[in-house]
Amino acid sequence: MFEMNQETFNKILLVEDNPGDARLVELYLEESDLFQFNIVHCLTLKDAIDTLAEGGFAAVLLDISLPDSTGFPTLEKLLTSYPEENVIVLTGFSDKTYGLKAIKTGAQDYLVKGDFDSEMLSKTLKYSFERNRIIKRLEEVQRITHIGHWELDLRTVKLEASDEAYRIFGAPADVAFNYELILSYLHPDDVKVPQELFKILHEKKEVSKDLRIIRRDDSQRYINVLARRVMQDGKIVSVSGVVQDITERKQAEEEIVKGKERYENIFNRSKDAIFITKVTGEFLDFNPATGVLFGYTDDELKSINPDKLYKDITQRRAFEKEMLEKNSVRDFNVDFIQKNGAIRNCLVTSNVVVTAESTEYHGIIRDITDRMQAEQLRKDKEIAERSAKLKEQFLANVSHEMRTPMNAIIGMSHLLQKEDLSEDHRNYVNLIKQSSEHLLGIINDILDIAKSQFDEIEFEEVEFNLMDIIKKLDNMWKVQANQKQLGFEVKVGQNIPKIIVGDHLRLNQILINLTSNAVKFTEKGNISLTLYKTNETDEDVTLRFEVSDTGIGMTEDQLEIIFEPFTRVAKSKDKLYEGTGLGLSIIKRFVELQGGKIDVKSVVGKGSVFGFELTFKKSATVPVVAATKVLEDMVIPEGQHVKILIVEDNTINQIVARKTITKQWPSVHVEVAGDGKIAITKFNENDYDIILMDIQMPVMNGEEATKYIRTQFDEPKRSTPIIAMTAHVHVKEDQKFMEYGMDDCVLKPFKPEELFEIVLKHLPKKNQPSNTSNNIMSNEFKNKSYQFIDLEYLETMSDHDDHMKSVLLEMLLKDPIKDIKRMKEDVAKKDWDAVSDLSHKLKTTFPYVGYTALIDTNKAINDNLKKWKDGNITTNEIETLLPDMADRVEMFFRQALVELQAEFKDMTQGAA
Ligand code: ADP
Repeated sequence: MFEMNQETFNKILLVEDNPGDARLVELYLEESDLFQFNIVHCLTLKDAIDTLAEGGFAAVLLDISLPDSTGFPTLEKLLTSYPEENVIVLTGFSDKTYGLKAIKTGAQDYLVKGDFDSEMLSKTLKYSFERNRIIKRLEEVQRITHIGHWELDLRTVKLEASDEAYRIFGAPADVAFNYELILSYLHPDDVKVPQELFKILHEKKEVSKDLRIIRRDDSQRYINVLARRVMQDGKIVSVSGVVQDITERKQAEEEIVKGKERYENIFNRSKDAIFITKVTGEFLDFNPATGVLFGYTDDELKSINPDKLYKDITQRRAFEKEMLEKNSVRDFNVDFIQKNGAIRNCLVTSNVVVTAESTEYHGIIRDITDRMQAEQLRKDKEIAERSAKLKEQFLANVSHEMRTPMNAIIGMSHLLQKEDLSEDHRNYVNLIKQSSEHLLGIINDILDIAKSQFDEIEFEEVEFNLMDIIKKLDNMWKVQANQKQLGFEVKVGQNIPKIIVGDHLRLNQILINLTSNAVKFTEKGNISLTLYKTNETDEDVTLRFEVSDTGIGMTEDQLEIIFEPFTRVAKSKDKLYEGTGLGLSIIKRFVELQGGKIDVKSVVGKGSVFGFELTFKKSATVPVVAATKVLEDMVIPEGQHVKILIVEDNTINQIVARKTITKQWPSVHVEVAGDGKIAITKFNENDYDIILMDIQMPVMNGEEATKYIRTQFDEPKRSTPIIAMTAHVHVKEDQKFMEYGMDDCVLKPFKPEELFEIVLKHLPKKNQPSNTSNNIMSNEFKNKSYQFIDLEYLETMSDHDDHMKSVLLEMLLKDPIKDIKRMKEDVAKKDWDAVSDLSHKLKTTFPYVGYTALIDTNKAINDNLKKWKDGNITTNEIETLLPDMADRVEMFFRQALVELQAEFKDMTQGAA
């Protein structure tokens, strides 16, 4: 910062080559009140410039006619090197005019040699000091305020600008500004601004404008230009003004605008309603989403009574209360009513805001109705999926439950057929057998449909002899068709591979279905089954099968729906066609799931043609599907003593299996175990050649028993063939029985030959003549074993004291059944506390009975009631679960009761 103080600036430089003139100036100064200044005298310009480098000169008295420079250039050269110096030019009398020019060039003043005295010199110097100081201060002010000054003389087109103006433009001070140069700094969008300003100046004295410049380093700055005109003779002769760097201010303003825009954007675009209300709830300001939420126009909202927006006014009161108490609410649940009456479920978050003028509520409302609905949909979907699973489970269970008695019916009628029967009785038995086989077919169909709806079907890939299948169909349908006096023929095309790979059972099922329909819906004429090749590659062959008939046919409309489950369209006044309407829908799924297509053409009264195409892998090897043997071939080698253990809980099925085997093979020794546990006891004491094992059994199921045998026994016992005997179709398809460690599987109800075939298949595995058969009876005798009860605990508790044991047994025979009955009554009354007490009481009784299923079921009642009390399951669930459980407790106990009675009888009779 420049400050003219006399301690620092205590020298005056006199540049004068004329010794006389120089001496005179020195004398004047000594005389004057500026005597304290030291005078440094130079004779040449070069000398002067060198000396100025020392600094500290308050003024330079410069003669412009020097030995090394004369005239103006002298001053210019000096000022170029030292633009800040306070120069007073000394001119000769003859070149007086130079004085003015010198001032314009940058000198502070001038003196005409010979024309000034001591006092004038002093005054001139003092004025120059003062002026210089003012100029310096002005420059300082310009620098601090970033305001530069400029002036444009329109007559000379000369542009003068202060240092700060140069600094603002980032322009070097040594390249003087001119109008064109200034234009080159302007932002392309602002180059027209100066002209516009001139235009305005014709009307107005003063004009101001913000514009942008681009500095040479490419940085952009904002400037404000203020211009004033100077008039002469009614014309503008010059324009002067200031230029100010306003970049910082502009940027701050832009930030504010941007920030405001940003907030306005959020406000306007927010999907959530944003609002400001009075404390009394009236709207002061709100965003467009608020209008959308409530369905009112802005004006309506501004004047609405807030109560009208709440579905339940108590919610509003609760909201107000919380705002009053806590000054804010977060996710406060409110049901608002829209103008159209619809209810929107919303979450309100709000704060109390106190300003100088008022207190307001500021907040956001989030409409969660759709989200809740989506959530509900998701839950519904989950429930639907769960119930689909349940349905599947249900169907599997139902099929199991139905197949078990079917096994008994079919098996028994098969056994009966072998008896010596009267003609009538034989007919009855045949009818029973036919009907039950028919019923079994329907059960299987329903199961297939259920499974195909879950895409659960897995198709086998085995080699089979296609011609065998066709031949069998031919044999079978020729007879059936004959009975209706219909012709039946099979036509097989050329070059069809005999052995192919695929699911032969499903193919058979499809063909049987189509041919049986053809026979069923045809009264006269012919049925034909045609087979030909449509495509063949190295690996595959594609075959088309067609079944055509000359039957009743169908209309176009009927054709559209026959593949839907349970559709039956055939109507006849004099004939009732049997069927479930499931067959076609099942086989359609079968064909499609194997990548094929099924089609049908039909003319009413003329007949129908059903066709489908399937691709099979080709095979070069021999067929693996063994031809089904006839019963007579299924013999056990003479002299071979075979022992079979049947493990089965259902008494009828026990009989069916035992009788079926002994009818065919009277020499085979068959034993029966009622559950896995009994089976293991027997197995431990005897050697069997084959075990036929039911899977679902009480106490110990077939899976557990098999595992036990496979792990707890030594060879060769542990490898005894075990054949699963189940009504669970899934087991066969999942090949689960293999996982359990079983060797094979017979599906109940079974055809005798199926059972025999499997038994024979596994017999060779263990084929030593048995020598333990004689012991069987005695062993059985020694180990009195019960199917359900286990009295080990009772024995221990009675300390093997027979009297004590009989007392306990008597108690078991009388008391628990009363408690169970009461428990069932309480379940019916939904008196859960009473149920809980009784179940608890029974918990201590049942271990004496030792029947696991009974103990477990009662424990489940207890556990569920506890869960319900803890709030982990609903009352609804308890109400569905418990009746069934109580029934089961009763059932299990009744099973146990029979054995308990037997034991008690044994004891008391023994004692007697
Ligand atoms: P179902 O035969 O057990 O009733 P399907 O699904 O096999 O069930 O057949 C559905 C219906 O399609 C039949 O009830 C019958 O109305 C019609 N239909 C099927 N095959 C024929 C055919 N060959 N000729 C005439 N109608 C047929």
